[in-house]
Amino acid sequence: MEQLLNLIDGELRPALGGGWLDVHAPATGTVYGELPDSDQCDVELAVQAAHRAFPAWNALGRDGRSTVLLRLAQAIEDDLEGFAHDESRDNGKPLSLARRVDIPRAIANFRFFATAILHFPSEAHLMDDVAVNYTDRQPIGVVGCISPWNLPLYLFTWKIAPALAAGNCVVAKPSEVTPLTAFRLSTLCEKAGIPSGVLNIIHGLGPKVGAAITAHPRLPAISFTGGTRTGAEIARVAAPMFKKLSLELGGKNPVLVFADCDFDEMLKTTVRSSFTNQGQICLCGSRILVERSIYTKFRDAFVERVKALKVGDPSDPTTDLGAVVSKGHMENVLGYIELARSEGGTVLCGGERVQLDGMLQEGWYIAPTVIEGLGPVCRTNQEEIFGPVVTLQPFDGEADAVALANATPYGLASVIWTRDGQRALRVARDLNAGIVWVNCWMIRDLRTPFGGVKQSGVGREGGVDALRFFTEAKNVCLKL
Ligand code: NDP
Repeated sequence: MEQLLNLIDGELRPALGGGWLDVHAPATGTVYGELPDSDQCDVELAVQAAHRAFPAWNALGRDGRSTVLLRLAQAIEDDLEGFAHDESRDNGKPLSLARRVDIPRAIANFRFFATAILHFPSEAHLMDDVAVNYTDRQPIGVVGCISPWNLPLYLFTWKIAPALAAGNCVVAKPSEVTPLTAFRLSTLCEKAGIPSGVLNIIHGLGPKVGAAITAHPRLPAISFTGGTRTGAEIARVAAPMFKKLSLELGGKNPVLVFADCDFDEMLKTTVRSSFTNQGQICLCGSRILVERSIYTKFRDAFVERVKALKVGDPSDPTTDLGAVVSKGHMENVLGYIELARSEGGTVLCGGERVQLDGMLQEGWYIAPTVIEGLGPVCRTNQEEIFGPVVTLQPFDGEADAVALANATPYGLASVIWTRDGQRALRVARDLNAGIVWVNCWMIRDLRTPFGGVKQSGVGREGGVDALRFFTEAKNVCLKL
């Protein structure tokens, strides 16, 4: 049994209350370790440590902090295999995906923000002969970061890297469902030279640890990625305290396939955008909208490809889909498939749990599922399922495609497939989404603004937006 610990004030320690929670391996459905069942007392200890550490961390300056964060990036890279195995074991995702995407991206997050801070500009505004204004951007102090289970280290570091680079100290909570790589990271901090108290990692349940971070009066900024319902609860608590909030929430992303697209490229990428990480990426396209003239051709070719995907052992390099993250989540996703059937949808492939052999018999696997025959207003096409399930809907013309695409409460990402450049520009402009990919998916430049509209969130992360979020702007006006 692995025993995970909190990182508070540079020390690895159990929860003050002494309680533990089980951690499961989705591939086998078994318990492999335990993590501290922390509460507000652990959060309090961390907040105090972070406030003590803040003046020296801030005084280190951009160069000093950059050097330390680059060392941390290197330490992760030196242990890439260990991190990738842990991420796959904890989350159920294919090891090949963790090795190729999750861990390299976590390293890139630290490298990117460690160097971005060196180039973070401040503005000056000259008023002819009257005065000069300059914008002084200072770190907030101590901030709270809360992240989800789907891309555990990738999204955890996407928050803590800019927060630390900007000069803040951090109290962070990874998802209790996937705590392992955050714990592994905490074991590297001392070696990398992160001073005690600068980064504190508290494990435990959302309603205890997450809620304590959200409500803590000495954490004036909260960066959260997770479900829309949790985001609403965080906003409810934090807004009357006038906290700065960044909320990256759920999605129900449309993929718009026009008849003039590069069919082969579209098909290949749409299989990926539907089922990578078992469909558990907030950017996955879950509603595929297809121009009617190619609907049947698309449906048949797509279903054939999806049937050929291999659901299997996450450590097998030939596996396309591993396990979904938890038993509860598996039941939730299977429940949505039943709902789709009861709403009149036709399951074209998948639609059930997959039972593997031997050690994997009790693992939480779902066959990639494609559903057709449902209109835009049913729950299946309105609610986020966040699993290996997509629906197909035909459309007639551009206006119909845009109306269908925008017909949910969400607005995170969308994908357009067309060879017509003018149409791509028009449709991209008209989509209610924070992110639009044209003829591609998941190409990420860390300098670009990342986030959603409507119920997909508030604020933007990435590049200069993240550094601005984690600093307070002060205008200084000098009379000439
Ligand atoms: P949750 O909202 O359930 O949890 C996210 C984090 O919040 C976890 O660490 C969780 O802890 C914690 N939490 C739970 N309750 C509270 C609370 N009351 N106060 C403070 N923190 C709390 O999301 P999931 O982990 O299930 O992640 C999946 C969701 O994340 C999907 O909706 C997905 O779309 C979204 N997401 C959005 C992204 C974006 O960039 N827009 C990117 C990736 C995912 P614990 O796990 O311990 O309960």
